[in-house]
Amino acid sequence: MFVLQAPNQMNVEILFMSTVFLQIKDIKDLVQNMGFTPKGCLEQFSLTYMFISHDLSVMRFIAHRVGVMYLGRLVELAATNELFEKPLHPYTKALMSAIPVPDPEAKIERIVLSGDVPNPQTPPPGCTFHTRCPIAKDVCKTKLPEWREINTGRFVACHFVDGEFYDG
Ligand code: SF4
Repeated sequence: MFVLQAPNQMNVEILFMSTVFLQIKDIKDLVQNMGFTPKGCLEQFSLTYMFISHDLSVMRFIAHRVGVMYLGRLVELAATNELFEKPLHPYTKALMSAIPVPDPEAKIERIVLSGDVPNPQTPPPGCTFHTRCPIAKDVCKTKLPEWREINTGRFVACHFVDGEFYDG
């Protein structure tokens, strides 16, 4: 589904929404038929688009910035390269480890999350990821982690980034 808005003549904002059910091939064909790459469109026309997907590997080629959500909340936001080079949130790390790599000799340490995804209508207290987080501590069960800026433009919501406790 595409939602287009034209707030003025110079800038066109495109809200570009997708789910796993939207064929990536359709998007690829579309932009190629137009003669542009998705990222190229941004510079060419000052476009903004939001692309929603369950497939992080696609994001690498589509987006300049990526936000990762769990149970309806943003848990990490970063420039695409930064996120792929060094994911900080445990949920992002698990997602990254699940990306298929087309190299049979590549050594990949998969992070398999245990438990089911909680009901978003009755989310767990504290950090909503604590019921599945491999590094959860007691504080995570009661205290919602603050959404904080780690570096310029890089945000994460976790009490323990790089093993350091942040009591924000
Ligand atoms: S706040 Fe705790 S439970 Fe939540 S992601 Fe960080 S370590 Fe895991």
